[in-house]
Amino acid sequence: MMIVHPGSEVRVLIRSRPTANFAQELIEYLPDGQTVSVHQRKDSRKGVVNNQLSSWSFRLDGVLHDVSQEEVYGRVGRGVVLGALEGYNGTVMCFGQTGAGKTYTMTGATESYKQRGIIPRALQEVFCEVEQRSDHAFSVHLSFLEIYNETLVDLLASVRGCPGVGPGGMAVVEEAGGGVSVRGLSLHPVHSEEAALNLLFEGEMNRIIGAHALNKHSSRSHCILTVHIESRSRTLSDAKYVTSKLNLVDLAGSERLGKTGSGGQVLKEAMYINKSLSFLEQAILALADRRRDHVPFRQTKLTHALKDSLGGNCNTVLVANIYGEASQIEETLSTLRFASRMKCVQMDPVVNEHTDPVLQVRKLEKEIQLLKQELSIHNTLANRMGMSYDTLSETQVAEIQSQVRMYLEGSLDEINIVSIRQIQEVFAQFKQAVQQQEQKVKDQLCQNYTLVEKAQSTAGSTAAKSRGSQGTVGVVEGHGFGVGLAVPSERHIRLLSPGRTKAIKTKELASQGRKEAVEGRSPGPGKPVESVNPVQRDREGRKHDPQSQEPQGPQEPLRTDSPPPKAEAFEDFKAERGSEINRILKENKVVLLERCARLRELTEGVNTAKREIDSTSTALHQWRDKRQSQGQFVSAEGVPVLDEAELSLALRLRELKTQYRQQYEELRGTKAEVSYCQHLVDQCRTRLLNEFESWYNESFLIPEEVQAMLRSGGPIRPGLVPVYKALALEEDEQEHFEHLRYELLADSPSAISFYNAHNRTVQRRNYSKAMSQTPVQKTTPRGSGRTKLPAILSVI
Ligand code: ADP
Ligand code: MG
Repeated sequence: MMIVHPGSEVRVLIRSRPTANFAQELIEYLPDGQTVSVHQRKDSRKGVVNNQLSSWSFRLDGVLHDVSQEEVYGRVGRGVVLGALEGYNGTVMCFGQTGAGKTYTMTGATESYKQRGIIPRALQEVFCEVEQRSDHAFSVHLSFLEIYNETLVDLLASVRGCPGVGPGGMAVVEEAGGGVSVRGLSLHPVHSEEAALNLLFEGEMNRIIGAHALNKHSSRSHCILTVHIESRSRTLSDAKYVTSKLNLVDLAGSERLGKTGSGGQVLKEAMYINKSLSFLEQAILALADRRRDHVPFRQTKLTHALKDSLGGNCNTVLVANIYGEASQIEETLSTLRFASRMKCVQMDPVVNEHTDPVLQVRKLEKEIQLLKQELSIHNTLANRMGMSYDTLSETQVAEIQSQVRMYLEGSLDEINIVSIRQIQEVFAQFKQAVQQQEQKVKDQLCQNYTLVEKAQSTAGSTAAKSRGSQGTVGVVEGHGFGVGLAVPSERHIRLLSPGRTKAIKTKELASQGRKEAVEGRSPGPGKPVESVNPVQRDREGRKHDPQSQEPQGPQEPLRTDSPPPKAEAFEDFKAERGSEINRILKENKVVLLERCARLRELTEGVNTAKREIDSTSTALHQWRDKRQSQGQFVSAEGVPVLDEAELSLALRLRELKTQYRQQYEELRGTKAEVSYCQHLVDQCRTRLLNEFESWYNESFLIPEEVQAMLRSGGPIRPGLVPVYKALALEEDEQEHFEHLRYELLADSPSAISFYNAHNRTVQRRNYSKAMSQTPVQKTTPRGSGRTKLPAILSVI
């Protein structure tokens, strides 16, 4: 049995027809069972020296000499047949001169069961295997093609119920995967060996037999019987299935024209046969030469029909039939040469696996069903009821559409998230709303202005100025419409929780005033270079007062979506969301002020005491200097005696010093308190500002990453907008804001970085101060001075 090795060569075997006149001296089968040596006498007719021998040796895959039909099937056919049942394409082909035994090898003697050939044995094996392999469902079809004088003939066209050949006739056609098929060739489903054999005999009967000088039964045509096999696993409910084609080919005689000695019709037949076989040889040479990309399969019907059956993705076996008589030695040599060329053809068979689209869909549907069940279990466990994962109905889409509209109008605060499909639809509706809005704005602009391309706008604007009444709107590529008026902006969609609504409403009212101021401004960068707003110029070229212009421009309704100025929003924040921290801040400030006042008092006290000490000390020294000049006053015992004035000065100085020390101690404690209070106030303030900043950002839909960046104070990533831009503050708003920053001093929200820097400095200063204190002071318990003070509310 043949074993298929991927990447191996086509298997070639020699079979010789038995004859009483076997040319033993010319044909020698070597004992290895694979090699044939041929010795040829030089032809005396061609003027070459007589009795001179030339020898050739051919090493093939096997020699079938005096071998039974059964053994031939075993060595030639079985492996290919079994491969076909696994899904590999296979071809068994007989080549050789007429009368060499090709038909005998392929079909055999039809009248003798024992001498039946490869085809009936292959059909028997196929159905035997189909029966045994019960885990697979097989479907087998047969087709029988004859190529006669370059004409395709369906040998089974006579079978009852066979559809006739279509209008285009029969033709070899290329298939998607590189294979070929014959259009118009009937395919016959077969379920048993007997039915298959009936078709074989029917085809044999229909075969066109040409009269020939050598053998009246030999054929002048090529015949290809193809067994089409499809198999699906019964055990795996798989959408995958395998197919294969088993080609059993009986080629026409390969003898050369000169040998036939015939004329007329037979001559014509011989010409065609020679042509097709010589092209077969060319195709095989090309296949054997790995450097060649192109194989000339399409030159004849035979090679074209065998395109996917010669090597490549196919198990191919060739039987070279020879007629071993001395008179046939030239044909024998020619056949062996063809055989050795065929042996060089590489094959690399692979299973033809396919996916059934219908089954695949069914399988996926089943899987979806299962996953839905899985989801519903999860939903039940998570207490999510009434979830649906089906495509949204028209009613559901309409419902989402109205929700989005209400949300945009402000009558709906939130859209609840239900499912992925619903979220996708919400976004789709948002997109639609934006597009509609854009179109509306565009239409309104088109009504009032004449649109010109950007390239024209420079020239057009000059003309427009002279025309006066007719305005121009420049169209800037990639920027939509730019006009002399403020461009509508849809940058902000506020997501307000009910608690925030009030604050924002107040801001919207406040922003009205600013809006009016903005309208008079000239277009900013990104707006068309040359655009003239007709309503801003009258015929004398004088500028109109923008306040007097139509207030309801297309941009008007969108203006109300600008965020409120921070300073105003901050006031609201302090009153509502930030009220608690603001209260703590205020209380801490009160304590701080009180401590500061006490510090001032103590400083004054200490300074006064210091001044008194200085003056008393000076007076005492002056007195002593005076006494020194007069001589020392000594008691009776010889002890130095102080006079009254000097004594009172000395006592006063001591008292002052004690007082000073006490006051100084208190001063130092109070100073530490003030520093501590200041620190708490700063912390409260920073927290208030931070919380406000987050609240403000959240309220105006600044992307999460921008918020994170703002919180971290990190660098702004390219593509992200600075906070002013993200808040869509116009230039004048920024100026206004800058102004407010100073006006609101410490409590202004935009002063965050200022305060952060300030806090860091204070911390540094406190630290260095602590380091400079004396060891005694440093060991003083931290809260010792503070316990006497009113409670300080810490926010940390
Ligand atoms: P081809 O098809 O090559 O023209 P055939 O198969 O028709 O040749 O064989 C010619 C004749 O030789 C037939 O009568 C056939 O029975 C006989 N023959 C060929 N090979 C064998 C063989 N191996 N054993 C017995 N008879 C054979
Ligand atoms: Mg034949």
